[in-house]
Order: sequence, then structure tokens, then C-alpha cells
Amino acid sequence: MDRDTKETKDKWKQLKKELAFEQKFVWDQLSPAEKEEALKFAEDYKAFLNEAKTEREAVLKITALVEEHGFVSLEELTARGKKLRPGNKVYTVNREKNVALFVIGKEPLWNGINLVGSHVDAPRLDLKPLPLYENVGIALLKTHYYGGIKKYQWLSHPLALHGVVIKQGGEKLNIRLGEKDDDPIFVITDLLPHLAKEQLQKKLGEAVNGEDLNILAGTFPLEDRDAKERCRLAVLELLKRKYDIREEDLTSAELELVPATPARDVGLDRSMVGAYGQDDRVCAYTSLRAVLNCQNPVHTAVGLFVDKEEIGSTGNTGMRSRFFENAVAEILYLLAGDYNEIYSRKALARGRALSADVVAAIDPNYEGVHDKYNAARMGCGVVLTKYTGAGGKYSASDANAEFVAEVRRIFNENKIVWQTGELGKVDQGGGGTIAQFLAPYGMDVLDCGPPLLSMHAPLEIAHKGDIYMSYKAYEAFLKS
Ligand code: MN
Ligand code: MN
Repeated sequence: MDRDTKETKDKWKQLKKELAFEQKFVWDQLSPAEKEEALKFAEDYKAFLNEAKTEREAVLKITALVEEHGFVSLEELTARGKKLRPGNKVYTVNREKNVALFVIGKEPLWNGINLVGSHVDAPRLDLKPLPLYENVGIALLKTHYYGGIKKYQWLSHPLALHGVVIKQGGEKLNIRLGEKDDDPIFVITDLLPHLAKEQLQKKLGEAVNGEDLNILAGTFPLEDRDAKERCRLAVLELLKRKYDIREEDLTSAELELVPATPARDVGLDRSMVGAYGQDDRVCAYTSLRAVLNCQNPVHTAVGLFVDKEEIGSTGNTGMRSRFFENAVAEILYLLAGDYNEIYSRKALARGRALSADVVAAIDPNYEGVHDKYNAARMGCGVVLTKYTGAGGKYSASDANAEFVAEVRRIFNENKIVWQTGELGKVDQGGGGTIAQFLAPYGMDVLDCGPPLLSMHAPLEIAHKGDIYMSYKAYEAFLKS
């Protein structure tokens, strides 16, 4: 190589370094100590995922962790007639499925909050109100799927039953079956290939019917040989004996079938985490840990964990409910000893939020659905998604460029490895997050979270470097 060529090459290299935006591997940017911390963080995260497989379990776990870190419930504070002061840490829970954490800042609340909001629900199969029936000598449980699933992925996959049964008198029964090694698991059968000739001709989306997602429940018959539906009756008898419940009790239950598989490392190098429910518990856990690190922030730091995102943020525990703004109003009252709505509205309208949700990582097996110049890559850090939506950005909360610049500055100043992302090619499909429901308060909102492979599958894949960077990113944002 002659001298000129080398000089030219160096010049181009320099030019590229100075002018071009390039994705960087998180792993290239971390010190040995930080890498160790990232790996340790992933261990804690996996333990969280194993314990928080439903929205209720996630909220329970979050609440337990924040209490260990000195958070007091808003209800307890009110009952004791206490007031709030800067530096105080409080939480409030909505129906066991939705929780908000507040670390009171030095600035008055009406100067705006810093919020990181994630969701704790995940796609799954719910039991129907009257799930139990018998067919061809097998007792089965009927399900209704929740959220966007590809139905075929849930066949022949070990499932666990999690949830609550509420008896008429209000007594609550917690059920968690299929997680321990000696627990039974639940499964939906799949058709043997020998007889699948017709099925295999069908379109993938039509090959499995929603009404056919029925769970094997039992095959031992009731002793009485004259009885009809002996297997169904035997299950009812077992439910009575083991849980003291009758069939009617199942009408006031929330029983969810979730993958029984625990979180595991993925890959020869163990660089990834494979687990159910990482959309969006990866953001829930990383933002939770970020809030726990928040001491005396300038602006009040808020960690918000909502339910029902996967079905449109509906219901009284979803982002569209009034729970969060009511909580802000209550906080304001406890700070000022008085309440004026305008201050509550200002706290929200002057607020800044990261809608903490996952984004699709470019998948080497399905590269075609992504615009590879704008897709997020595994291991290249937390993703800023300016807009989501479908088609011509319909239903997107397109973040203001000014706010994107602000977040970019905060991340760069704190050495956060970040990248941009888009949910697939234009017109390929689409989706939304809670950003569109935070934006109406007037606050600035930007979608920000790690990329995932196999999103919404029973086993979703995240990168340990991205998980760690999301945590550091939320921390930097909340402290800003
Ligand atoms: Mn999500
Ligand atoms: Mn989702």
C-alpha cells in the first residue's frame, strides 16, 4: 500500500467518524467492570421474569422491591395524616395490576415530572369464564387468547396456570401451577403431520382456530361408572377437594396460561436472554431499577407500570384509565396541603416521558420485513423510536424533534449506547405503545427501549448489553 492511499483511507475514516452516525456494539463500549455489572444485572432480571409472569405477579414483585427500598404507599401515608416532602418515595397500586412510583423532586411538581412508563401485561391465553368441558373422554379447558399471538406458537408448548379465583364472598385464591419441577404442566395438542395434509395447505394465520386452543385438563374418570362426562366431573371434584371451589367460582377468576419455561441464557456465549414476557417486562424491570437508584432528583421521578397495553390500553388498569392523573393530583395535594387542578395539569403538561417499550430487532431470518438502514440491531443499545403506528404513521405519537434532541443530549452526556429504530418497513404492518396515551396530557413523549427478537412469541430474545443500556438510559433520564 503506498503512502497516499493510506493517507486517503485515514482521511475517509476520520471523516466517517466525525460525520456519520453509526450503530455501536454496547459490548465494545463497556469497561470490564461494566460488563460484569451488565451480566449480574441480567441474572437479577431473569429472576424477576421467573417470578413475574403475569401483570399481578409483576406488580406484587415491584411493590415488594420498592418497599425494601423505603417506598411508602400513598394510602398508608394518607391514613397516617402525613405530608410529602422533596426526597420522599411513594407508590400507589391500582387493583394489583397497575402501579405508579414517585420520588419527589426538589423542583415543585408543577414544573413537570420525569416519567418512564412501561407495561406489565403480555400476550397469553386466558381461561374462559366457563372453561371446563369434556370431549371424547378428555376433560379440557377453553381459552381466549389475549394480545397479539401467532396461535400456532402456543401448541405443544409447556404452559403454566397463573392467576386468581375470587369467591363470592371476596375470598381470594392464588393459583400458580406448572412452575415447580414436580408440578403438572398444561398443553394444547397439535395435529400430527401424518394427518395434517389439509391443515398444511392453509394460510399460516388460518391453520389454527382460536376456538381450538383448548388445554388438556384431565383423563382420569370419576369412579361412578354410570355418570356422564366422568372426566369433567372428576376435574370438578378435584377442584373442590384441592381448592374448595365450584364451577361457578371460575366465572369470577382471572386464570392465565403462560409459558412454563423459565428465563434462560441464549447462545454459546450466553449473550442473550430467552424468556416469556420480555415485552414489556424488560422495560418494567430496567425502569424499576432506575427508579430505585433515584435519590433526591431535581424533577419528580415517576415509574409507571400499566396493564392492558397489549389490547389497546383499555380498562381501568390500562394507560387510558384516570388512575395515573388521579395519583398525580393526590401527590400534589399531599405536597401542598391543598389542591388546585391547574397545578396538576401543569405537572403533566410540562412533563417529559419515555414510553418504555420494546422494538423489533432486525431478524437475520426475516430481514425482508425491515428497512435495514433504520432497523434496530441486537446488542447496539437502547432504541429511540420517534414514531410507531401503521401505514402513514396512523395512531403514532410522533415525538417532537426538540424532545428527541433533548433525550439524545442526555444519553450522549451519560455515555448511553443508543440507536434508532422503526417497527419494520413502511406499510409492512405496525403497532403502538402507551406513548399515544401519555401525549394527550401535553407532555413530551418518546418511545425508548431495547430491541427484541421473536417479539410476542412464547420465548422472546433480548441482548444482555441492551438490557443493561436500557437501565442506564432510564436512570440518566430520570436524574436529568
Ligand atoms: Mn410492548
Ligand atoms: Mn407487545
